Amino acid sequence: MMKDIATPSRTKDILARHRFSFKKSLGQNFLIDPNILQRITETAGLTKETGVIEIGPGIGALTEHLARSAGKVVAFEIDQRLLPILDETLAPYNNVKVINEDVLKADVKTVVEQEFAEFDRLMVVANLPYYVTTPIIMKLLEDKIPVNGFVVMLQKEVGDRISAEPSSKEYGSLSIAVQYYTEASIAFIVPKTVFMPPPNVDSAIIKLDVRDKPAVSVEDEDFFFTVTRTSFAQRRKTILNNLVNGLPDGKEKKEHITSALEEAGIEPSRRGETLSLAEFASLSKTLLKKGIGK
Ligand code: SAM
Repeated sequence: MMKDIATPSRTKDILARHRFSFKKSLGQNFLIDPNILQRITETAGLTKETGVIEIGPGIGALTEHLARSAGKVVAFEIDQRLLPILDETLAPYNNVKVINEDVLKADVKTVVEQEFAEFDRLMVVANLPYYVTTPIIMKLLEDKIPVNGFVVMLQKEVGDRISAEPSSKEYGSLSIAVQYYTEASIAFIVPKTVFMPPPNVDSAIIKLDVRDKPAVSVEDEDFFFTVTRTSFAQRRKTILNNLVNGLPDGKEKKEHITSALEEAGIEPSRRGETLSLAEFASLSKTLLKKGIGK
């Protein structure tokens, strides 16, 4: 069998032969350690019955490992210069399809319907481009792409925020947005040395298990997310002040907001970062009841 793409020598050889130069603006940090790739595919629990969506295959380092373990891989790559390289490196695998599109603009739902109809289990597995990690994850969750889970590499700092518990300094509207749809945990931390070129920040693999239904039930999702974002607008301020200053009709309705907080059993002097998802859900319910957000 040929040497893995993700070895320093083979990666260097591929890049040199194709005269490829990294584009920092596209978050191009390629993996050069087969052990890390092995751990990523193990964490994703891949079998031949699993379909995989990859974002940003690069020169195919992770794609190759996914193709070996999963039934089928569809990879979105924005950089056209990588297409001839992927044609060459992935030639031994007949279960991979590369789509030359910006994943943020792509119609992923239709791709899933067309490409994965016969798969019962679908995972997103990727070493994400760091300049757009949050928009990519949020797009796939908000568009309700029917995936079972995500195993993705991202900046450790973003992984900490996504998986944070209430009352920690990392907890915020991103933790709530992701935990609303998934059970989130950090699988393992990754050293900078496994990338070419090494990124400036520490990295982590996070695991998101998509819930059958959201963690809490809310009447109006958009308003629930508005309330959570507004509650964290100024972290040092009380939840009451943030809501009064941040909700569109907050200032005129201060008394209603106070009573909505009380009705939800939330002391108005608390800070947003102490509220659980369940508390934010009941707060958005009592706010709506008082005519706020309608
Ligand atoms: N998977 C490869 C690896 O692990 O070695 C490369 C990962 S690299 C961190 C991120 C990849 O995402 C690059 O190949 C980059 O060109 C691609 N990319 C960046 N922005 C993208 C976007 N909006 N849509 C699709 N691919 C993107």
